[in-house]
Amino acid sequence: MSLLVVGSVAYDSVKIGAESRTDALGGSATYFSVAASYFSDVSLIAVVGEDFRESDVALMQGHNVDTAGLERASGSTFRWAGEYDPDDLNSRETLDTQLNVFADFSPKLSDDHRGAPYLFLANIDPALQLDVLNQMEERPKLVALDTMNFWIEGKKDELQKVVEAVDVLFIDETEARMFSGKSNLLHAASAITDMGPHTLLIKRGEHGVLLFHDGSIFVAPAFPLETVVDPTGAGDSFAGGFMGYMAATGDISSRGLRRATVLGSVMGSFCVEAFSLERTSALSKEEIENRFRAFGGLTDFEHLAEDESLPRP
Ligand code: AMP
Repeated sequence: MSLLVVGSVAYDSVKIGAESRTDALGGSATYFSVAASYFSDVSLIAVVGEDFRESDVALMQGHNVDTAGLERASGSTFRWAGEYDPDDLNSRETLDTQLNVFADFSPKLSDDHRGAPYLFLANIDPALQLDVLNQMEERPKLVALDTMNFWIEGKKDELQKVVEAVDVLFIDETEARMFSGKSNLLHAASAITDMGPHTLLIKRGEHGVLLFHDGSIFVAPAFPLETVVDPTGAGDSFAGGFMGYMAATGDISSRGLRRATVLGSVMGSFCVEAFSLERTSALSKEEIENRFRAFGGLTDFEHLAEDESLPRP
Protein backbone atom coordinates (compact mmCIF):
# COMPACT_ATOMS: atom_id res chain seq x y z
CA MET A 1 0.00 0.00 0.00
CA SER A 2 1.41 3.36 -0.96
CA LEU A 3 -1.02 6.25 -0.48
CA LEU A 4 -3.14 6.69 2.63
CA VAL A 5 -5.84 9.34 2.95
CA VAL A 6 -7.92 10.46 5.90
CA GLY A 7 -10.79 12.82 5.21
CA SER A 8 -14.52 13.15 4.85
CA VAL A 9 -16.84 10.77 3.06
CA ALA A 10 -20.04 12.70 2.66
CA TYR A 11 -23.43 13.24 1.19
CA ASP A 12 -23.55 16.63 -0.50
CA SER A 13 -26.51 18.75 -1.46
CA VAL A 14 -25.50 21.20 -4.15
CA LYS A 15 -27.46 23.98 -5.87
CA ILE A 16 -26.29 25.82 -8.99
CA GLY A 17 -28.98 28.03 -10.54
CA ALA A 18 -31.90 25.82 -11.55
CA GLU A 19 -29.84 22.61 -11.18
CA SER A 20 -29.49 20.80 -7.88
CA ARG A 21 -28.59 17.45 -6.35
CA THR A 22 -29.50 16.13 -2.90
CA ASP A 23 -27.41 13.65 -0.93
CA ALA A 24 -25.00 12.99 -3.78
CA LEU A 25 -21.80 11.11 -2.99
CA GLY A 26 -19.05 13.53 -2.01
CA GLY A 27 -16.47 14.23 0.66
CA SER A 28 -12.85 15.25 0.50
CA ALA A 29 -11.48 11.71 0.87
CA THR A 30 -13.91 10.29 -1.69
CA TYR A 31 -12.96 12.70 -4.48
CA PHE A 32 -9.29 12.36 -3.58
CA SER A 33 -9.28 8.54 -3.52
CA VAL A 34 -11.05 8.04 -6.80
CA ALA A 35 -8.87 10.62 -8.60
CA ALA A 36 -5.65 9.16 -7.14
CA SER A 37 -6.75 5.58 -7.89
CA TYR A 38 -5.91 6.05 -11.60
CA PHE A 39 -2.19 6.30 -10.67
CA SER A 40 -1.55 4.57 -7.35
CA ASP A 41 -2.88 2.18 -4.69
CA VAL A 42 -5.04 4.13 -2.25
CA SER A 43 -6.28 3.30 1.25
CA LEU A 44 -8.98 5.34 2.89
CA ILE A 45 -9.58 6.21 6.55
CA ALA A 46 -13.00 7.72 7.24
CA VAL A 47 -16.33 7.10 8.91
CA VAL A 48 -19.84 6.87 7.48
CA GLY A 49 -23.23 6.36 9.09
CA GLU A 50 -25.84 3.61 8.84
CA ASP A 51 -27.43 5.49 5.94
CA PHE A 52 -24.38 5.15 3.69
CA ARG A 53 -25.31 3.37 0.48
CA GLU A 54 -23.60 0.08 -0.38
CA SER A 55 -23.44 1.21 -4.01
CA ASP A 56 -21.17 4.08 -2.92
CA VAL A 57 -18.79 1.69 -1.16
CA ALA A 58 -18.86 -0.40 -4.33
CA LEU A 59 -17.95 2.66 -6.43
CA MET A 60 -14.79 3.19 -4.37
CA GLN A 61 -13.93 -0.52 -4.35
CA GLY A 62 -14.50 -0.60 -8.11
CA HIS A 63 -11.51 1.76 -8.31
CA ASN A 64 -9.46 -0.59 -6.12
CA VAL A 65 -9.64 1.86 -3.21
CA ASP A 66 -8.92 -0.11 -0.03
CA THR A 67 -11.94 0.59 2.20
CA ALA A 68 -10.83 -1.53 5.17
CA GLY A 69 -10.40 1.74 7.10
CA LEU A 70 -13.90 2.98 6.26
CA GLU A 71 -15.72 2.62 9.56
CA ARG A 72 -19.50 2.38 9.77
CA ALA A 73 -20.83 4.04 12.93
CA SER A 74 -24.33 4.44 14.29
CA GLY A 75 -25.78 7.76 13.22
CA SER A 76 -25.86 9.68 9.95
CA THR A 77 -23.15 10.25 7.36
CA PHE A 78 -21.44 13.68 7.27
CA ARG A 79 -23.58 16.15 5.28
CA TRP A 80 -22.50 19.30 3.46
CA ALA A 81 -24.78 21.67 1.54
CA GLY A 82 -23.58 24.47 -0.70
CA GLU A 83 -24.77 26.86 -3.36
CA TYR A 84 -22.79 28.35 -6.26
CA ASP A 85 -23.44 31.62 -8.03
CA PRO A 86 -24.21 30.38 -11.58
CA ASP A 87 -22.57 33.53 -13.00
CA ASP A 88 -19.39 33.06 -10.98
CA LEU A 89 -18.67 29.44 -10.15
CA ASN A 90 -15.65 30.48 -8.09
CA SER A 91 -18.11 31.88 -5.59
CA ARG A 92 -19.55 29.25 -3.26
CA GLU A 93 -21.60 29.60 -0.12
CA THR A 94 -21.75 26.81 2.44
CA LEU A 95 -25.38 26.51 3.50
CA ASP A 96 -24.97 23.74 6.04
CA THR A 97 -22.31 21.47 7.56
CA GLN A 98 -23.44 18.52 9.70
CA LEU A 99 -20.51 16.59 11.14
CA ASN A 100 -22.79 13.74 12.33
CA VAL A 101 -20.65 10.57 12.76
CA PHE A 102 -17.47 12.65 12.33
CA ALA A 103 -18.20 14.45 15.61
CA ASP A 104 -17.06 11.37 17.60
CA PHE A 105 -14.69 9.82 15.09
CA SER A 106 -11.43 8.50 16.44
CA PRO A 107 -9.43 6.97 13.58
CA LYS A 108 -7.60 3.74 14.32
CA LEU A 109 -4.94 2.81 11.80
CA SER A 110 -4.05 -0.82 11.10
CA ASP A 111 -0.36 -1.84 11.00
CA ASP A 112 -0.55 -1.80 7.23
CA HIS A 113 -1.91 1.77 7.19
CA ARG A 114 0.69 2.97 9.67
CA GLY A 115 3.50 2.07 7.27
CA ALA A 116 2.19 4.06 4.28
CA PRO A 117 4.97 6.10 2.63
CA TYR A 118 2.60 8.77 1.27
CA LEU A 119 -0.06 10.39 3.44
CA PHE A 120 -2.77 12.85 2.50
CA LEU A 121 -4.63 14.59 5.31
CA ALA A 122 -7.71 15.67 3.36
CA ASN A 123 -10.02 18.41 4.51
CA ILE A 124 -11.35 17.34 7.91
CA ASP A 125 -11.04 18.42 11.55
CA PRO A 126 -7.33 19.33 12.03
CA ALA A 127 -7.34 17.46 15.35
CA LEU A 128 -8.12 14.24 13.41
CA GLN A 129 -5.46 15.08 10.82
CA LEU A 130 -2.84 15.39 13.56
CA ASP A 131 -4.06 12.25 15.28
CA VAL A 132 -3.55 10.24 12.09
CA LEU A 133 -0.09 11.72 11.50
CA ASN A 134 0.91 10.82 15.07
CA GLN A 135 -0.18 7.22 14.54
CA MET A 136 2.21 6.68 11.61
CA GLU A 137 4.94 4.15 12.38
CA GLU A 138 7.62 6.38 10.93
CA ARG A 139 7.50 9.75 9.21
CA PRO A 140 6.08 9.07 5.70
CA LYS A 141 8.18 10.21 2.74
CA LEU A 142 5.64 12.89 1.93
CA VAL A 143 2.78 14.27 4.03
CA ALA A 144 0.29 16.65 2.44
CA LEU A 145 -2.67 18.49 3.86
CA ASP A 146 -5.76 20.29 2.63
CA THR A 147 -8.12 22.45 4.64
CA MET A 148 -10.92 25.02 4.29
CA ASN A 149 -12.39 28.16 5.83
CA PHE A 150 -14.62 26.13 8.19
CA TRP A 151 -11.50 24.93 10.07
CA ILE A 152 -9.48 28.15 9.64
CA GLU A 153 -12.31 30.02 11.35
CA GLY A 154 -13.17 27.36 13.92
CA LYS A 155 -9.91 25.58 14.81
CA LYS A 156 -7.03 27.82 13.78
CA ASP A 157 -4.62 26.74 16.56
CA GLU A 158 -5.05 23.02 15.87
CA LEU A 159 -4.71 23.72 12.15
CA GLN A 160 -1.52 25.71 12.67
CA LYS A 161 -0.03 22.80 14.64
CA VAL A 162 -0.67 20.25 11.89
CA VAL A 163 0.42 22.63 9.09
CA GLU A 164 3.78 22.96 10.86
CA ALA A 165 4.24 19.20 10.58
CA VAL A 166 3.49 18.63 6.87
CA ASP A 167 5.52 18.88 3.65
CA VAL A 168 2.84 20.00 1.22
CA LEU A 169 -0.15 22.28 1.80
CA PHE A 170 -3.09 22.65 -0.58
CA ILE A 171 -5.17 25.74 0.11
CA ASP A 172 -7.63 28.02 -1.73
CA GLU A 173 -6.61 31.55 -2.59
CA THR A 174 -9.06 33.22 -0.19
CA GLU A 175 -8.23 30.70 2.52
CA ALA A 176 -4.48 31.35 2.07
CA ARG A 177 -5.16 35.02 2.72
CA MET A 178 -7.40 34.25 5.68
CA PHE A 179 -4.95 31.77 7.23
CA SER A 180 -1.84 33.94 6.80
CA GLY A 181 -3.47 37.32 7.44
CA LYS A 182 -1.73 38.67 4.29
CA SER A 183 -3.67 39.97 1.31
CA ASN A 184 -0.84 39.76 -1.25
CA LEU A 185 -0.59 36.13 -2.40
CA LEU A 186 3.23 36.12 -2.51
CA HIS A 187 3.35 37.43 1.06
CA ALA A 188 0.71 34.88 2.07
CA ALA A 189 2.79 32.10 0.44
CA SER A 190 5.97 33.15 2.29
CA ALA A 191 4.14 33.34 5.60
CA ILE A 192 2.73 29.83 5.08
CA THR A 193 5.96 28.18 3.90
CA ASP A 194 7.72 29.80 6.89
CA MET A 195 5.39 27.74 9.10
CA GLY A 196 6.85 24.46 7.77
CA PRO A 197 5.58 23.11 4.41
CA HIS A 198 8.30 23.09 1.72
CA THR A 199 5.69 22.96 -1.02
CA LEU A 200 2.55 25.06 -1.26
CA LEU A 201 -0.27 24.87 -3.80
CA ILE A 202 -2.60 27.84 -3.88
CA LYS A 203 -5.77 26.88 -5.73
CA ARG A 204 -7.50 29.64 -7.68
CA GLY A 205 -10.52 27.81 -9.13
CA GLU A 206 -11.06 28.64 -12.78
CA HIS A 207 -7.88 30.76 -12.66
CA GLY A 208 -5.69 27.74 -12.08
CA VAL A 209 -3.10 27.02 -9.42
CA LEU A 210 0.21 28.39 -8.12
CA LEU A 211 2.94 26.02 -6.99
CA PHE A 212 5.54 27.42 -4.58
CA HIS A 213 8.61 25.25 -4.02
CA ASP A 214 12.21 25.95 -3.18
CA GLY A 215 11.95 29.68 -3.88
CA SER A 216 10.38 29.18 -7.33
CA ILE A 217 6.81 29.67 -8.55
CA PHE A 218 5.07 27.58 -11.21
CA VAL A 219 1.71 28.61 -12.62
CA ALA A 220 -0.73 26.11 -14.15
CA PRO A 221 -3.93 27.33 -15.76
CA ALA A 222 -7.27 25.66 -15.25
CA PHE A 223 -8.05 23.61 -18.34
CA PRO A 224 -10.42 25.78 -20.43
CA LEU A 225 -13.85 24.12 -20.54
CA GLU A 226 -16.99 25.20 -22.36
CA THR A 227 -19.25 23.66 -19.76
CA VAL A 228 -18.66 23.57 -16.05
CA VAL A 229 -21.46 21.68 -14.30
CA ASP A 230 -20.40 21.43 -10.63
CA PRO A 231 -17.09 22.63 -9.15
CA THR A 232 -17.56 20.61 -5.93
CA GLY A 233 -14.62 18.33 -5.31
CA ALA A 234 -12.30 19.98 -7.84
CA GLY A 235 -9.76 20.79 -5.12
CA ASP A 236 -9.78 17.24 -3.75
CA SER A 237 -9.56 15.74 -7.24
CA PHE A 238 -6.63 18.08 -7.88
CA ALA A 239 -4.92 16.79 -4.75
CA GLY A 240 -5.73 13.20 -5.82
CA GLY A 241 -4.01 13.64 -9.17
CA PHE A 242 -1.06 15.39 -7.54
CA MET A 243 -0.51 12.87 -4.74
CA GLY A 244 -1.30 9.89 -6.99
CA TYR A 245 1.56 11.00 -9.23
CA MET A 246 3.86 11.55 -6.24
CA ALA A 247 3.10 8.12 -4.79
CA ALA A 248 3.59 6.45 -8.18
CA THR A 249 6.90 8.15 -9.06
CA GLY A 250 8.42 9.35 -5.75
CA ASP A 251 9.72 12.30 -7.76
CA ILE A 252 9.70 15.33 -5.48
CA SER A 253 12.10 17.27 -7.68
CA SER A 254 10.88 20.56 -9.08
CA ARG A 255 10.18 18.80 -12.39
CA GLY A 256 8.16 16.07 -10.66
CA LEU A 257 6.17 18.58 -8.61
CA ARG A 258 5.34 20.56 -11.76
CA ARG A 259 4.13 17.46 -13.58
CA ALA A 260 2.08 16.49 -10.53
CA THR A 261 0.55 19.98 -10.52
CA VAL A 262 -0.51 19.59 -14.15
CA LEU A 263 -1.92 16.11 -13.49
CA GLY A 264 -3.84 17.56 -10.53
CA SER A 265 -5.25 20.24 -12.81
CA VAL A 266 -6.28 17.56 -15.31
CA MET A 267 -8.16 15.60 -12.64
CA GLY A 268 -9.81 18.77 -11.29
CA SER A 269 -10.96 19.66 -14.80
CA PHE A 270 -12.70 16.30 -15.27
CA CYS A 271 -14.38 16.57 -11.87
CA VAL A 272 -16.21 19.81 -12.69
CA GLU A 273 -17.71 18.42 -15.89
CA ALA A 274 -20.49 16.63 -14.00
CA PHE A 275 -22.16 16.47 -10.60
CA SER A 276 -20.67 14.44 -7.76
CA LEU A 277 -18.19 11.76 -8.91
CA GLU A 278 -20.08 11.02 -12.12
CA ARG A 279 -17.22 12.06 -14.42
CA THR A 280 -14.25 11.41 -12.13
CA SER A 281 -15.31 7.82 -11.56
CA ALA A 282 -15.78 6.99 -15.25
CA LEU A 283 -12.51 8.02 -16.88
CA SER A 284 -10.22 6.04 -19.13
CA LYS A 285 -6.43 6.21 -18.95
CA GLU A 286 -6.51 7.45 -22.53
CA GLU A 287 -8.78 10.43 -21.73
CA ILE A 288 -6.49 11.40 -18.87
CA GLU A 289 -3.36 11.13 -20.98
CA ASN A 290 -4.91 13.08 -23.87
CA ARG A 291 -5.86 15.94 -21.57
CA PHE A 292 -2.42 15.88 -19.94
CA ARG A 293 -0.89 16.22 -23.43
CA ALA A 294 -3.32 19.01 -24.35
CA PHE A 295 -2.14 20.88 -21.25
CA GLY A 296 1.37 20.95 -22.65
CA GLY A 297 0.07 22.70 -25.74
CA LEU A 298 -1.76 25.29 -23.63
CA THR A 299 1.34 26.46 -21.83
CA ASP A 300 4.10 25.80 -24.34
CA PHE A 301 5.85 28.85 -25.80
CA GLU A 302 9.29 29.64 -27.08
CA HIS A 303 11.56 30.91 -24.34
CA LEU A 304 13.79 33.92 -24.95
CA ALA A 305 17.24 32.54 -25.80
CA GLU A 306 20.35 33.93 -24.07
CA ASP A 307 21.54 35.60 -27.26
CA GLU A 308 18.10 36.82 -28.32
CA SER A 309 16.25 40.03 -27.45
CA LEU A 310 12.66 41.12 -27.88
CA PRO A 311 11.78 43.28 -30.91
CA ARG A 312 12.31 47.02 -30.55
CA PRO A 313 10.72 49.81 -32.62
P1 AMP B 1 -13.80 21.00 -2.65
O1 AMP B 1 -14.88 21.45 -3.60
O2 AMP B 1 -12.67 20.31 -3.31
O3 AMP B 1 -13.39 22.08 -1.73
O4 AMP B 1 -14.44 19.87 -1.71
C1 AMP B 1 -15.80 19.74 -1.49
C2 AMP B 1 -16.04 18.51 -0.60
O5 AMP B 1 -15.58 18.80 0.73
C3 AMP B 1 -17.50 18.19 -0.53
O6 AMP B 1 -17.73 16.93 -1.14
C4 AMP B 1 -17.83 18.17 0.97
O7 AMP B 1 -18.50 17.02 1.37
C5 AMP B 1 -16.49 18.26 1.67
N1 AMP B 1 -16.55 19.18 2.81
C6 AMP B 1 -17.21 20.36 2.89
N2 AMP B 1 -17.03 20.93 4.10
C7 AMP B 1 -16.23 20.10 4.81
C8 AMP B 1 -15.67 20.13 6.14
N3 AMP B 1 -15.91 21.14 6.98
N4 AMP B 1 -14.88 19.09 6.52
C9 AMP B 1 -14.63 18.09 5.66
N5 AMP B 1 -15.12 17.99 4.42
C10 AMP B 1 -15.92 18.97 3.98
